[in-house]
Amino acid sequence: MIDLETLTIEKVRKAYKDGLYSCEDLVKAYLAEIEKKDKEMHAYLEVFGDVLEQAKEADKKIKEGIDLPLLGVPFAIKDNILIKGRIASSASKILENYKATYDATVIKKLKDAGAIFIGRTNMDEFAMGGSTENSAYGVTKNPYEAGRVAGGSSGGSAASVGGKMALVALGSDTGGSIRQPASFCGAVGFKPSYGRVSRFGVMAMGSSLDQIGPFASNVSDAEIVDMVIAGFDNNDSTSVKGVAQKSLKKKIGIVPKLLEMDGIAKEVKDNFFESVERFKRAGYEIVEVDLPNISYSLPVYYVLMPAEVSSNMARFDGVKFGSKIEGANLLEDYMKTRAELLGKEVKRRILLGTYVLSAGYYDAYYGKANRVRELIKKDFDKAFEVVDAVLTPTAPTPAFKIGEKTNNPIEMYLADIFTVTANLIGCPGISIPSGFTKDEKPLPLGIQLVGAYLQDGSLFEIGKDFERAE
Ligand code: GLN
Repeated sequence: MIDLETLTIEKVRKAYKDGLYSCEDLVKAYLAEIEKKDKEMHAYLEVFGDVLEQAKEADKKIKEGIDLPLLGVPFAIKDNILIKGRIASSASKILENYKATYDATVIKKLKDAGAIFIGRTNMDEFAMGGSTENSAYGVTKNPYEAGRVAGGSSGGSAASVGGKMALVALGSDTGGSIRQPASFCGAVGFKPSYGRVSRFGVMAMGSSLDQIGPFASNVSDAEIVDMVIAGFDNNDSTSVKGVAQKSLKKKIGIVPKLLEMDGIAKEVKDNFFESVERFKRAGYEIVEVDLPNISYSLPVYYVLMPAEVSSNMARFDGVKFGSKIEGANLLEDYMKTRAELLGKEVKRRILLGTYVLSAGYYDAYYGKANRVRELIKKDFDKAFEVVDAVLTPTAPTPAFKIGEKTNNPIEMYLADIFTVTANLIGCPGISIPSGFTKDEKPLPLGIQLVGAYLQDGSLFEIGKDFERAE
């Protein structure tokens, strides 16, 4: 029996080397877990039929003594990341049968590092949402309590790792879609600095905000995956090269007034202050920092993101990609296809985005939001002169009930209050499990660290210190 609860990449690699079990054995263990749980949990949209073949292939290489950083490591992949020859639907009806014609850069890098793919995971349609309830294929349930959401938009990837149905996973994060579901499902979730990981082959949502990153059960595994997928890529014009990592000041910033906002659960606050104490035990100094414009992050995000969404979604017209519903003429083709095959939230954002970009409103909304984005960036630059990272809760509440927020988009958007800032300023962010609620069925909680631009390594160091401090 393989103990999936405590597995790490390092343990798996060692077990393969020592012949304790094979990759095929491990994949069978995950498949058995999926068989047992996933009918209800619905983390996966598809478990790939050839996963055992992939495992056997990896075992052959292991026997030959080939040494690769992720050889035989089983991944779950969010459904908006292209794997050549496989369906990538972004959990939308419009791409129900769309097959990727090439590998995303991150997939190519994972393949080169020896990884294998268990399947593609459920998500909010085109990554728009925070609960996976916007999937066209049904909601993903929280591995800790089936009546609750797994978070989103990468809810399936988070649940696959939190529910021990994959060792690690990839997600995308435009405003928190890796970090928030990670915190709901008891996993580590990491969003790299903008440009460190290539976006080539991930379906664009908000192009100035999107990043791909890992889910894992511990910080070190997230770091290993990050090292493999990061790097300059000619195919992504916003790709950047990594820089030398500065040594840590061992100082963490907090913004107490943020915790006083409405809508933050008491247990989230309590857990946050317990985490602060834990950082102190780990040898960090806690410093209050002033981020005067941070309260504008959410409104700025909800202007800029839909603007970018509305332009990125224009390509789904029934002609260039995916399914089509025929009308009497070309215009009707477009209208019918988009009206019938796109979900409500996607349409809401296209409308919002088109509005904020329209002549007459462009400067009042889009232009102004961009200017405030710069102010928020400057506040953080100043803070990072003093501290290594800024600490907040990852989400204002633990996983909420399925259906609880579906009729109130504003309330759903408020769940992103702590996460969107890192995307706006392009800085790395990580969510780390920090405890559980005191409910009868305890729910996971997470804390978030946002680090300085391109100093992604610092978050892994601080995260590992936090894990060790207990
Ligand atoms: N929940 C946020 C939103 O709905 C974030 C989505 C994401 O990061 N893809 O926009």
